[in-house]
Amino acid sequence: MQQSIAVVTGASRGIGQAIAQALVEANYFVVASATSESGVAAIQEYLGEKGTAFVLNLADKDSCAQFTEQVNALGAVSVLVNNAGITKDTLMLRMKDEDWDSVIETNLSGAFRLTKSFLKGMMKQRWGRIVNISSVVGAMGNPGQANYCASKAGIEGFTRSLAYELGSRGITVNAVAPGFIATDMTHELTEDQKQAMMANIPLGRYGEADEIAKAVRFLASDDAAYITGQVLGVNGGLNMG
Ligand code: NAP
Repeated sequence: MQQSIAVVTGASRGIGQAIAQALVEANYFVVASATSESGVAAIQEYLGEKGTAFVLNLADKDSCAQFTEQVNALGAVSVLVNNAGITKDTLMLRMKDEDWDSVIETNLSGAFRLTKSFLKGMMKQRWGRIVNISSVVGAMGNPGQANYCASKAGIEGFTRSLAYELGSRGITVNAVAPGFIATDMTHELTEDQKQAMMANIPLGRYGEADEIAKAVRFLASDDAAYITGQVLGVNGGLNMG
């Protein structure tokens, strides 16, 4: 039997890499993305024969179209993990249009484009799993992250709406909202910011990329067949809402 295909965006490092590896363990053929050829080579190195990778810039419509064409040529996609995301943090008064636009385009519009391109294949199979990576701040808000929080609140609304639309087709749509995970993205925070964050985490530690990946793998599995339209917080208790 041909292996099912799982797509993971932004898998050159961090949480995306952990998700790609977890889905390989779940026996998927993983198709992953990076923004550069060197990132693609890095992914190919850890995936080996268990998957492949292509360049993708979610903020660029042509790049999204090319990526989806390359993936669709391999077969129908069963699992889509919209993981790739960026931050452009600054207080609102200093936030430039391009800081707003690039974060919304990458984190939200890019997910819309990819999801739309892979839907037909999932609908034909009458089985599919879409997992969107949000953030704890999508619900909580965070000073200096109006653009990022808007993109993540948007992805949660997108998740619920799609869950309504696709439920009858055997496709579940959920989000995972990580708390503070040690990756390049959080590396940029100051020690003071990290300490302040830690004080509010009941489990008293940052999360590991692998802990997000395990939640995604569960939502992508048959065991999660009756779960849709949910936002699963994986945040050490930082937000219990
Ligand atoms: P990361 O280490 O900064 O990695 C980001 C990934 O996204 C990389 O693979 C990067 O590719 C890719 N990417 C960047 N810009 C892109 C674009 N324009 N088009 C397509 N791909 C692009 O981030 P991370 O911490 O693993 O975060 C992964 C997801 O988790 C994001 O959605 C993030 O918002 C969310 N999240 C993270 C945390 C956390 O604490 N780390 C918390 C909550 C939510 P290149 O390597 O080619 O640049």
